[in-house]
Amino acid sequence: MPSELGTILVVEDEAAIAETIVYALRSEGFKPIWKATGREALAVMTSETIALVVLDVGLPDTNGFELCRKLQIQGRVPVIFLTARDSEVDRIVGLEVGGDDYMAKPFSPRELTARVRAVLRRTKAGPGEYGKTANDAPWAHDAEKCRVSYQGHTLELTRNEYRLLAALLAQPGRVFNRDQLMNAAWDDPGAALDRTVDAHIKLLRAKLRAIVPGDDPIVTHRGLGYSLRET
Ligand code: CA
Repeated sequence: MPSELGTILVVEDEAAIAETIVYALRSEGFKPIWKATGREALAVMTSETIALVVLDVGLPDTNGFELCRKLQIQGRVPVIFLTARDSEVDRIVGLEVGGDDYMAKPFSPRELTARVRAVLRRTKAGPGEYGKTANDAPWAHDAEKCRVSYQGHTLELTRNEYRLLAALLAQPGRVFNRDQLMNAAWDDPGAALDRTVDAHIKLLRAKLRAIVPGDDPIVTHRGLGYSLRET
């Protein structure tokens, strides 16, 4: 049964801490999913609609910062970091890593659930839209419905086209190389070819041109990759 308050992905390798968090979230009406590694966490992101991620910085197979970056490529999701070290706090507070809040260990589960609520309230300000894209007038991205509209027209996109565009939309102006786009949009990036990305960009451009003839909001950076024009 889907929780009304949303599904919270808890990525934490220490079972005792994870259990406390899961228990606290569940008793407040959230649906927690616990994963102990970055690899498992990424897999969940593709199969579930996650409202927020509680992310331990120190993980066995990756670090929380790196994982946070990967999570955002698939679409913007709010992140609360769990950290055991002051040096990590500096990076989080410096907003280098794109988290929405953090908690230093040890913390009380009650405090964490309060932060989860606060971040969800803050990030749900728009009507079903979130983050930068919510205010970028030409674009509207509904991540829950996997739908993007441009200049008020909903785009008919294939799965790969949608995921490609969602990655670009998550960070307008950022130049993504082909590998990054491949990882964002294909389940089995190893099997796809470099020119697959180019081919899909071409298809996307055609669909955008069909809405506004002559307009090309996707920018090619020769030898580097692609970005979405900042608005
Ligand atoms: Ca840890």
